Amino acid sequence: MKRLTLADCFDPTGERFGIPTFPWRCAPNDLATRRQLRSRGLRPGGQDIAAQILRPRRRREPLTAYLYRVDLARPVRPMTPGRWRAHEAMMRARRRCPRCGADAGYVIPPTLGTCVTCAYPEEQRAA
Ligand SMILES: [Zn+2]
Repeated sequence: MKRLTLADCFDPTGERFGIPTFPWRCAPNDLATRRQLRSRGLRPGGQDIAAQILRPRRRREPLTAYLYRVDLARPVRPMTPGRWRAHEAMMRARRRCPRCGADAGYVIPPTLGTCVTCAYPEEQRAA
């Protein structure tokens, strides 16, 4: 495959790549990457990817970054007391051992499926 040049990456109508495509550093100001949105306190907010930027690289696939429309972005949702409570409840559930029902004090490792005491009763007694 012929190596992409920066000029090849200019496809604002998406004719070549299927979605509007701009060369690195040449994206319009009304589009931003997820990280750029985040630095402005915004998130994509469920919108579809609007465009991509491509950065050709020597002997490798081009770097791709997806762009979102700034005008459709939403503010990052701040943590409210209700959202903190939901978060706490979720973490409590993840610390609860399904076998002995105790709060293990740590998130139950998915590989064990129970707290360490239930997973290794012999070692716990010997210790
Ligand atoms: Zn247990």
